[in-house]
Amino acid sequence: MPRKALVAGAGGFIGHAMVRYLKEKEYWVRGVDIKAPEFGATAADEFQLLDLRRRDNCLVATHGVEEVYQLAADMGGIGFITTNHAEIATNNVLINTHMLEAAWLNGVDTLMYSSSACVYPQYLQESADVTPLKEEDCYPADAEEGYGWEKLYSEKLAQYYNDDGRVKTRVARFHNVFGPYGTYEGGREKAPAAICRKIALCKAEDEIEVWGDGEQTRSFMYIDDCLEGIYRIAKSDHSRPLNLGNDYLTTINGLVEIVAKIAGKTIARRHDLSAPQGVRGRNSDNTKLRELFGGWEPAISLEEGLKPTYEWIEQELSKAGRIATVAKAI
Ligand code: NAD
Repeated sequence: MPRKALVAGAGGFIGHAMVRYLKEKEYWVRGVDIKAPEFGATAADEFQLLDLRRRDNCLVATHGVEEVYQLAADMGGIGFITTNHAEIATNNVLINTHMLEAAWLNGVDTLMYSSSACVYPQYLQESADVTPLKEEDCYPADAEEGYGWEKLYSEKLAQYYNDDGRVKTRVARFHNVFGPYGTYEGGREKAPAAICRKIALCKAEDEIEVWGDGEQTRSFMYIDDCLEGIYRIAKSDHSRPLNLGNDYLTTINGLVEIVAKIAGKTIARRHDLSAPQGVRGRNSDNTKLRELFGGWEPAISLEEGLKPTYEWIEQELSKAGRIATVAKAI
């Protein structure tokens, strides 16, 4: 008998890919989301459209499965999460509280919770040359308003469900995930996708707008590394939050240069200093991750991951008739 898994958020970027990953591992998969996947059909055996803020829907979603991959969240890029604190915190606390409760009531074995590097205190992220953040650095807490505080609270809730013997919980703190089949416009997209879109829409020599001075730093994890990490963490004995990120730091300006090179274009930058830019610097300390998995950690380089990401976004824009280029298939 195949193992049965629920992927919550299966209409979104990571959830859609997680369904495929679990299918390759021969799971029976139920996908659930409030919307259907935007880019291509789901690989799930069953897909249900459900609003997971509702407890009754969470009970339906978690019925009869052994593993839950909780990737549903109201989220977006820095522009979205800095301007919608009440909506994001309310929606996500409802989703996570009801999912944990329903997983317990339905006798689920393991729930894997997708937290975020946004739980880390802002006072440790004021320099572009940031010291990589260790798991224990998140206290004393000063998380990102709204989105980050909710993640921190739900991490704790997951811990209580685990420690009280209700359901085994595993927690990964993702650091900036990117790849093809993710949102690339509309306000919820993240920096790598936004930069790919802007450059794909450019002429051979052109200018794009960059939020802030572009010297803010981040680390970026390619989707394939993220999926592998999620699965490893879900299957581990480690019930406390773990960083899941690449620990190679780059500036947003550096990101622009890499994408411009992939596109074969000469791109100048126009900096909007009034735009939201988030913390000044953020990086992942992967010591615990490596210890737990015999040296494994996300290692796909930015150049390697941005190539298929750029080509996919270029292809989408081409299909929509917004650029003349016919991108080659990825
Ligand atoms: P995404 O926005 O692409 O996917 C989230 C999905 O959740 C969406 O399809 C959305 O429709 C769904 N959803 C929202 N509200 C819902 C509701 N009420 N009921 C059912 N479904 C609902 O985001 P993603 O990048 O795939 O993120 C997945 C998880 O990883 C989230 O928990 C997110 O906070 C976390 N995370 C992502 C990143 C990143 O860089 N992508 C970084 C840190 C943490």
